Amino acid sequence: MAGGCAQNPVSGTSEFVLMSESDEIRVGRTSHRQIIRKYGVYENPRLQAYVRKIGQRVVSKSHRPELVYRFTILDSEDVNAFALPGGYIYITRGMLAYLNSEAELAAVLGHEAGHVTARHSVRQYTAQQATSLGLTIGGILVPGLGTPGVSDLVNLLGGALLRGYGREHELEADRLGAEYLAKSGYDPEAMIGVIRVLKNHELFEKQRAKEEDRESKVYHGLFSTHPDNDTRLKEVIASANVFLQPNASHKVGRNGFLTRLNGLVFGQGVQDGVVRGNGFYHRDLDFGLTFPAGWRVKNQPDKLTAQPRTNDALLQITVQDLNKRIPPREFLRQRLKLKKLRNGKSVNAGRLPGYTGTVTSGSRPARVTAIYYEDNAYIFVGSAKSERKLREYSPDFLATARSLHALTSAERPLTKARRITITKVKTKTRYDELAKKAPLLNYPTEQLRLLNGHYPHGEPRPGDWIKLVR
Ligand SMILES: [Zn+2]
Repeated sequence: MAGGCAQNPVSGTSEFVLMSESDEIRVGRTSHRQIIRKYGVYENPRLQAYVRKIGQRVVSKSHRPELVYRFTILDSEDVNAFALPGGYIYITRGMLAYLNSEAELAAVLGHEAGHVTARHSVRQYTAQQATSLGLTIGGILVPGLGTPGVSDLVNLLGGALLRGYGREHELEADRLGAEYLAKSGYDPEAMIGVIRVLKNHELFEKQRAKEEDRESKVYHGLFSTHPDNDTRLKEVIASANVFLQPNASHKVGRNGFLTRLNGLVFGQGVQDGVVRGNGFYHRDLDFGLTFPAGWRVKNQPDKLTAQPRTNDALLQITVQDLNKRIPPREFLRQRLKLKKLRNGKSVNAGRLPGYTGTVTSGSRPARVTAIYYEDNAYIFVGSAKSERKLREYSPDFLATARSLHALTSAERPLTKARRITITKVKTKTRYDELAKKAPLLNYPTEQLRLLNGHYPHGEPRPGDWIKLVR
């Protein structure tokens, strides 16, 4: 049976959990596949190997050294790190960009390892299940009932990972992380350093998200649960000093660590196209689009969406390959099965042919436009809350569809990934000077300060190595 008492590897006490260690590993493995499918692995074998090396060094001193830990850099611009039960630990390239020493990297991995060794997700899962489902849950992981149980569990865990684990678990992960840091030769104070850096990032991100009227993308529970000057956090970190190894210091300085980040992709990945200002550019499909000024453009792997700030309309763009040479009008009728298309008329984007009309899908009226470009149909579905709103937004929907064009030579550089580049500061300079040359659209000065741990008011000194974006 899955349920029952198990010994907590950290405290050594017995506690009631509904998941055995082998279930825990199985859930981890299943979730791992989903995580990889969702984010993708950041393809940089040298950096992956480096993160793995630091991670292994830290977990070899942990409470569950026999577990096989796997460290993965995810290809995401979000600033995040998390752990799955069973030893799967992730850090995004977005978070790596903000770290400034190997000890800070070890601190992030140590904190996540702490969640694994203390079995936080298992304990959280047990607590939720025990209260919400009572005894029936006992059977959820019985072999043979297999997959549905596991996927429920994965969903539950997914939610828990995104929300974080709550203050007590976060503090415990910090304490364990600091202990593993000290035992593996790093200064446990790095834990405070990394919290400060990421707390600043969080404040900045929240402020920007508010201005841009979108959800903020911040690291899981760590920072929402405690500020960097938190007394309990300080106590917890200080208590790790007893584990410090006098002769085995891995204090790798800032420069050595930064060198490893040279060339790291920063911000949006480019394989699915990039949003720059109110434009969208796709390198591989070789097209560009212009959206109405001020609209929020969101790029997802399978679709592109745009919305005015008022949220009373939504434009969704997808691409379908053409298999038969039929006119755009027939494409809408046959392929998209829009038999009841109204107000149909031909449109064009420069020399590209297309067709547009209105439909009602569910209760929402929508304008559907198809434009042909090369061997694909670009489908623009603009929906609004009412017929009146649809008439109001139709010119915007149509203008966006008609802006479809092959990339110009001036636009092609925009489709390249931004990368972190490491430079030595030679003469006295300021971040606002450096920001002028950085291809960062919003708050470039603040972004450079955040990247270098100099937010909000610091300046680089001659002789410093700093991160820039090119
Ligand atoms: Zn945490």
